Amino acid sequence: MGNSMILLTDDLLLDYARCHRRAHLHHWGDRHHRAPEKDFVLKLRREHQQQIQTVLAGQRVATPEYSPQDWSAGAVATETLMAAGVEQIHRGILRWTEPLEELPQPEGLELVGRPTLLVKQPGVSRFGNWCYQPVNIKLGKRPKSEYKLVAMFQGLMLTHIQGATPPDPQLILREGSTHGVDSGYWWGKMLAAVTDCVRALRDAEAPEVFISRQRCSLCPWYDHCHGVAVATQHLSLVPGVTPGRYASLQGLGVTSLAQLAALEPQQVEPDIEPAIARHLQRQAQAIVENRPLPLGTAHPSPQPLAPIELYFDLEAEPDQDVDFLFGVFCVNHDKQTETFHGFFAEHPRDEPLIWQQFLALLHRYPTAPIFHFSPYEVETVKRLSQRYRMSQYPMRSLLPRFIDVHAWLMAVAVLPVENYSLKSVAKWLGFTWRDQGLSGDQTVCLYNQWLETADQEALAMILRYNEDDCRATHQLRMWLHDWSLRGETNFANILDRV
Ligand code: SF4
Repeated sequence: MGNSMILLTDDLLLDYARCHRRAHLHHWGDRHHRAPEKDFVLKLRREHQQQIQTVLAGQRVATPEYSPQDWSAGAVATETLMAAGVEQIHRGILRWTEPLEELPQPEGLELVGRPTLLVKQPGVSRFGNWCYQPVNIKLGKRPKSEYKLVAMFQGLMLTHIQGATPPDPQLILREGSTHGVDSGYWWGKMLAAVTDCVRALRDAEAPEVFISRQRCSLCPWYDHCHGVAVATQHLSLVPGVTPGRYASLQGLGVTSLAQLAALEPQQVEPDIEPAIARHLQRQAQAIVENRPLPLGTAHPSPQPLAPIELYFDLEAEPDQDVDFLFGVFCVNHDKQTETFHGFFAEHPRDEPLIWQQFLALLHRYPTAPIFHFSPYEVETVKRLSQRYRMSQYPMRSLLPRFIDVHAWLMAVAVLPVENYSLKSVAKWLGFTWRDQGLSGDQTVCLYNQWLETADQEALAMILRYNEDDCRATHQLRMWLHDWSLRGETNFANILDRV
């Protein structure tokens, strides 16, 4: 099994650079455990194709003909174009199957690369007085290291195919900027990454799971990996356990949730700061005991129930730089009523209109506190007040009314949750979204769908999702209210319990 042929594509190497386990699962994993690509990932792919078309518009490019996935035919057709000396080749295939002297285990490898472009440059190659340079058009805004590794990997194949070292690869990024990849610096790093990746792919055992919200949320193997992590009570499920802290904990013999819950901070000094170690211990304890635990820091502002309270949540489409929905859930404690207001931009140009409607609503309840989850809402209010020059509704009186419920929660309690997203926290409180499985990323897809087709169901789903976010924030605020009434933030109480 370990000596079977390994197909290493540039996409697989990119996955390896992002998560070793993901590349391994792509190669070895049971396809039944792999979920279909998420709508947001498909949206990014479409945007990438549009970006490529925009960059190439008006340029002369030759495209080799081959059936999809037929790398062998694609490589032959690409080499024919290279030998003919065409200026630019789009969708070319680089393929190399001979042993490579640069790698420690050179046998049994099929390498495949698909640069966006191969661009003809001066030089001497086996084709004549020219050679080719890989150019990749990427959706990212920054020249990420994984893009550079992939470009160098293509350069490795190109070196052998054309019998000449190519000029430094180029990256064309989202806003059109171009970056050269320093081959002298990245060559060794690329060879090390390829060597590691091949070694990992030859091993039938998958690299250890490590759940990281940011990295795993769009991964098609998430459900499978999360299941493994839950079954093994993996420490990456404890909020605050980063890969670096995980390595420190492992090195110090803290390998289980129970051990972390019983940790004395001095056990892990100086690898982990005492305050952080104390927090990790408490977080693990909350999970092991499946109950919320108090924190010693009190929230600065007292939060008695106000007669009227507003719960605010935004939906935004960052690519179009538009905030397209301002949702406000109005709770009148005196009259026992609840009303949702959704100010929706039917087109991005309507943003100033819904901004004014939103401000008018806030003005109608001039003393009501405005609860929200995360700093994004207030940052947006500040940004839009600059953009649209708020006049009638002065910021001075508006800003102090905003209360970040997430910051309040983090200051007073530790919950038995895997992360402190609104989804995770509200789920622990028993709240359910009407459209289960929908995420903020997907509302962006739904908004684009709305813009293209005016689909009423897409609009209804966006509004329902936003209203449920507001309601979930309300439920959390009420829990925090009860929590503080019980005196759980009293430090003496904490000491009694520890
Ligand atoms: S879910 Fe996370 S750990 Fe699992 S393969 Fe994907 S990125 Fe890697």
